[in-house]
Amino acid sequence: MDKINNVTVYCGSSVGASDIYQQQAIALASELVNRKITLVYGGGRVGIMNVLANSVLEQGGQVVGVMPNLLVEREISHTGLSEIHIVGTMHERKQKMIDLADGFIALPGGFGTLEEFSEVFTWGQIGLHTKPCGLLNVNNYWAPLVAMIEKMADEKFLQEKYRHMAIIEDKAANLLDRFLHYTAPSVKTYDDL
Ligand code: AMP
Repeated sequence: MDKINNVTVYCGSSVGASDIYQQQAIALASELVNRKITLVYGGGRVGIMNVLANSVLEQGGQVVGVMPNLLVEREISHTGLSEIHIVGTMHERKQKMIDLADGFIALPGGFGTLEEFSEVFTWGQIGLHTKPCGLLNVNNYWAPLVAMIEKMADEKFLQEKYRHMAIIEDKAANLLDRFLHYTAPSVKTYDDL
């Protein structure tokens, strides 16, 4: 990939227990703005999501939010974004967030983040997209998931070609550099059935 124009970031609707999560969200925001990459995210004004979006906006960058009606009605959508897509369901939202991006990053977060990352990884395996998926391993937060990926591959529930499909870095700059050199593994086959 010569240039990354849009990155979807999945991240917590909470701020986490340590300031490091907010600090590293701000560091990611700076990297995106410096590289003129538009942030695509869940569109909320809570948690790490809010910190990330505000930081990109404050630094003069572009932010696209994708919100389902359900959450807009609860008035937790960010009202100052460059662009917002309002969609009907959570499923449409995730589809849109995948379609809009050239790559995906999960910052620390809870089940919402884990679910979004798992889905985008799974879709990569079956060839629905060929875009890079990264875990920004702030504070080694994703270590248990990284261990789970290894376990899945060791126990042959994850095909070997996907063992290293997720790009794992603790610095946003390194993650985005590796996105540029990403080549998707071949589409999943079921030869062993
Ligand atoms: P969680 O990691 O459980 O805090 O959920 C955060 C992720 O799920 C984000 O990447 C969002 O796309 C989505 N999400 C969950 N709750 C919200 C919310 N209140 N506003 C916007 N997005 C949310």
